[in-house]
Amino acid sequence: MSAKIIPLKGAAVTSSKATSCPQCGTAAVKPHTPFCSRRCAQLDLGRWLNEDYRIPAHEAMDDSDIDALLTQLEKDD
Ligand SMILES: [Zn+2]
Repeated sequence: MSAKIIPLKGAAVTSSKATSCPQCGTAAVKPHTPFCSRRCAQLDLGRWLNEDYRIPAHEAMDDSDIDALLTQLEKDD
């Protein structure tokens, strides 16, 4: 296979150079572009929402939380 890879967002990007994270200046990493990490993206989002540093640190549920819920469900039965 020698198919060319054509970037879809080529037209929207003014420069093909690596973007620097607006938060810390580190090179941006793909899923988080233009940020270097999810953390920096969240920090920026927090500023946009004008709720500085109110972004919760927890991600999704903990495994232990899910276990607790499952245990409850089993009890209820
Ligand atoms: Zn960053």
